[in-house]
Amino acid sequence: MGTVYAIANQKGGVGKTTTAVNVGACIAEAGYATLLVDVDPQANATVGLGIPRDQRPGLYEVLSGEASSAEAIRQGSVPTLQVLPAGEGLAGANLELPRIEGFERLLRERLAPVRDRFEYVLLDCPPSLGPLTVSALVAADRVIVPVQTEYFALEGLAGLLDTLALVQRELNPRLTVSGMLLTMHDGRTRLGQDVEREVRAHFSDLVFATVIPRNVRIGEAPSHGLPVTHHDPNSAGAEAYFELAKEVAARD
Ligand code: ADP
Ligand code: MG
Repeated sequence: MGTVYAIANQKGGVGKTTTAVNVGACIAEAGYATLLVDVDPQANATVGLGIPRDQRPGLYEVLSGEASSAEAIRQGSVPTLQVLPAGEGLAGANLELPRIEGFERLLRERLAPVRDRFEYVLLDCPPSLGPLTVSALVAADRVIVPVQTEYFALEGLAGLLDTLALVQRELNPRLTVSGMLLTMHDGRTRLGQDVEREVRAHFSDLVFATVIPRNVRIGEAPSHGLPVTHHDPNSAGAEAYFELAKEVAARD
């Protein structure tokens, strides 16, 4: 059975989706059967892989039982990377899920029938610690936490780690942190250097050696419906994600 990774941080705009899409693309390119599940109602991973935002069935229909996960899985712009798109109604799921007894395990149960088909499953989480993120953490074996190297980087990490510990204790004892990933890094600035040093001092080995630089190609790739690894494979951004994928696989 493959490994399920949740890419999570309740902060928005820290590079979760970019990391899910690009690590997914690199692992798939390396020949592993890989599935990316878009757990964010904003559907940025879905669109970033060339699939329409309003795709049906999507994860919403899978969670509500209208479709099976096998029926909802699509081929995106990367030939070897399969995608389970968010689907139009997913925003409502944050309200509807808590009304369902044992909703925390629903995503895990719905993905169970397809898990054996994939060596890696990546769950792109929304920017909150709400029901969808909790469901993803219950479905996951490991968590990757992107951290933007900016002034408030460490703020909120304590809350996230508390949530991880709670999920581990109450719902999913297998859950471990794969690593924290420094993203959108500008190593030329004093601030960038300070934040990197602080995060490494605080979390030591938990932080991936690979750092994702701030890179224009990464920012423009989603508008082409492509990961940066396919939009411009020779860019600094693509190279960093290739390195990261190797590091993630080595820690698997
Ligand atoms: P999240 O999923 O955590 O909200 P995203 O991955 O969507 O964050 O990133 C937020 C924005 O920053 C997006 O527009 C994305 O294209 C851009 N971005 C992400 N990583 C980088 C990077 N390393 N360099 C430049 N832009 C980036
Ligand atoms: Mg996102």
